Amino acid sequence: MSKRQRNDEDEEETFTADDSYVPYVPVRERRAEKYRKLATTLRKPLDRENGNSSASDSEPDEPKAGPRSNVALIDQAAELRKQEKPKTELQKELELEKEILTAQTTKKALFSAQELAQDVHYTEPLKTSWTPPKHIRELSEGQLNDVRKKFHIIVEGDDVPPPIKTFREMRLPPPILSHLKAKGIAKPTPIQVQGLPAVLSGRDMIGIAFTGSGKTLVFTLPLILRALEAEVKLPLLPNEGPVGLILCPSRELARQTYDVAQGMADALLAGGYPHIRVLLCMGGISMAEQADTLRRGPHVVVATPGRLQDMLDKGKLNLATCKYLCMDEADRMIDMGFEDDVRNIMGYYKGQRQTLLFSATMPKKIQNFARSALVKPVVVNVGRAGAANLDVIQEVEYVKQEAKIVYLLECLQKTSPPVLVFAENKNDVDDIHEYLLLKGVDCVAIHGGKDQAEREYAVKAFKDGKADVLVATDVASKGLDFAMIQHVINYDMPKEIEDYVHRIGRTGRSGRTGVATTFINRNSAEEILLDLKYLLKEAKQRVPPVLEALEDPNEKFRGGEGEFVEGLDVDCTFCGGLGHRITNCPKLEAQRRQTMSSHRSMHAGSGAGEY
Ligand code: AMP
Repeated sequence: MSKRQRNDEDEEETFTADDSYVPYVPVRERRAEKYRKLATTLRKPLDRENGNSSASDSEPDEPKAGPRSNVALIDQAAELRKQEKPKTELQKELELEKEILTAQTTKKALFSAQELAQDVHYTEPLKTSWTPPKHIRELSEGQLNDVRKKFHIIVEGDDVPPPIKTFREMRLPPPILSHLKAKGIAKPTPIQVQGLPAVLSGRDMIGIAFTGSGKTLVFTLPLILRALEAEVKLPLLPNEGPVGLILCPSRELARQTYDVAQGMADALLAGGYPHIRVLLCMGGISMAEQADTLRRGPHVVVATPGRLQDMLDKGKLNLATCKYLCMDEADRMIDMGFEDDVRNIMGYYKGQRQTLLFSATMPKKIQNFARSALVKPVVVNVGRAGAANLDVIQEVEYVKQEAKIVYLLECLQKTSPPVLVFAENKNDVDDIHEYLLLKGVDCVAIHGGKDQAEREYAVKAFKDGKADVLVATDVASKGLDFAMIQHVINYDMPKEIEDYVHRIGRTGRSGRTGVATTFINRNSAEEILLDLKYLLKEAKQRVPPVLEALEDPNEKFRGGEGEFVEGLDVDCTFCGGLGHRITNCPKLEAQRRQTMSSHRSMHAGSGAGEY
C-alpha cells in the first residue's frame, strides 16, 4: 500500500469518529452564505430565499463592488465591459489623435531647468503701472464685446483688458504718437486694439494674427515703454539690463524688429526722453559695432536664439533683471529646432517674466505647450489661426513640371511689380533667378545657401524698388515685411500648409488686396492639396476642378455622417491643416523622420569613433 492510500484511510477513520463532523460545503455556497450574513448585518437582505445560491442567478440585485460584493472583480470588469457601448470608429480615431497630440506636447521649453526642478509655478500676472483711461474702465463687458465684434477680435482668458480704439487713449508718450503718425500708422489695427492694452497691462499673451496685421508693434512698443519707465526710475549701469528680450527665428525678422524698436527709441530721444538702448544680437553681424550699447547695458535685446545663447554663455549679457520675453513666430521657432536653445535661455532668467508668443499660425500643439507655461494668458485671435489672409486673391493653376519656368514669365504679367516668387529648394531659386535675368527681368534672389551680405543686399535692393522680383526659398517668407507686394507666385506648393499661409501673407498687407498664384502638379502631395482645397474654401476662394475632384478620406470628421462629437476639431491638431488629421500629418511625419535620422547618425557617429 502506498503512503498516500494509508493516509486517506487514516483520515476517514478520524472523520467518522469525530462528532463535530461538518459535511463538505462547496466554496461557492460558503461564499454565498457569508454574503447573506453580511447583508443581514447591513440590513439589506439578499433575495436568495430559495436556497439556490448560484452566483449568476442572484447577480442583478447584488451589490457590485465594495465590501458587499460577492462577484470577483474580474467578473465585474467583464460585466461592465459588456454594458459599455462599443466605441464608434470615429471615437477610436479621435482617441488615437489625442494620444499622439499628448505625446507631442509634453515638452516644456518655456521653463528653465531650475524652475522645472523646483516645480515653480507663478499664479498671478506681473503688475505694471499702466491702466486704461477711466472712461474705458467704466465700459460694461457688453460694450467691450461690441468693440471686439466690430474688429473681428476673438479673445480667451480671465479678466481680459479692454480693447482700445485709438493710440491716444492708450496713453502713449507724444513723441511715439508723432513717430507712428509719420510712418502712416494713425489708427490701431485689430491685433493692436486688443493686444496693446493686454501687453501694457502686464498680461501674458498668445497673439494669433496673420502677417501684416501689425503684430510687431504689439510686442515692441510696450517693451520700449517699460524700458523708459525703468530708465527714469533707476538708470541702467554698465553690465546691467536688458529689461526685455524679443526672440526671432530668423535674422531677417530680427533685423526688422530691431529697426521698429530703434525707430521708437530714436523718436523718444529726439522728444527729450532718456536714451533707450536697443541691441541686435544675431549671427552674421559684428558685435563690435554695438560694443558701446553692450558696455553701457542694453534696455532691449532683439535676438536670434543661437547668438543670444552664445553671448549668455560667455557672460557678455545676462538676464538677471529681465522681466519680459517675446517669441515672435513662436511656432516656427519650436519647429525649427530652437526648443533646446530656448530652454537654455530660460535658465538665465531669475524670476517671473511677462511672456508673449506671437504667430500667424498657432496650431493646438503650440497652444497647449504655451498655456502650460504662461500665467493667466490672454489669447487674442484676429482671424482663424492658420487661415489665409482674406485680402489675398488666391489662384491655383495646374502647370506641368517642365512648363513651369516658361509659364512663370507669363504669370509675372498678371500684376505690376513688386513680385515675390517662392520655390522650395535652393537650386530652383538659382535656376529661376538666372532665367529671369536672361529674360531681362530685374530680379534678385535669396536662400539659406547665400551668405548674410548677399541676403541683406538682395532684401535691400528689393525693398528699395531696385529689383522688381525677389526669388526666395521659405527663408524669406518668415515674417519679412515688404511693402506693397502685388503678387506672390508659389513656383511649387510648399510641403506644409503653414508655409503656404506665410508665403501668401507677404501680399495683401495692411488692408490692401494682393494676388497669390500657386503652381500645382503631380509632384504635389495629396495631403497638402487637400489642405489647400479646404483653405481656399474657408477663405471663400475659387477652388479649381483639379482640387475639387480630390477625394477626402477624412470626410467623416466634417460632420458628414451626422455623428456629433463635442469639441471635434476640423483641422489637424498638430499643424492646423484643414485637409488631413494628426494621424497622417506630413509635418509631424517629417519631424519624426528628422528625429530618427539624427538618432541614427548619432549612433553611426559613436560607432565610427569606437573603431
Ligand atoms: P507686421 O505685421 O508687424 O509685420 O506689420 C506689417 C506692416 O504694417 C508694417 O510695415 C507696419 O509698419 C505696418 N503697420 C503696423 N501697424 C499699422 C497701423 N496701425 N496702421 C497702418 N500700418 C501699420
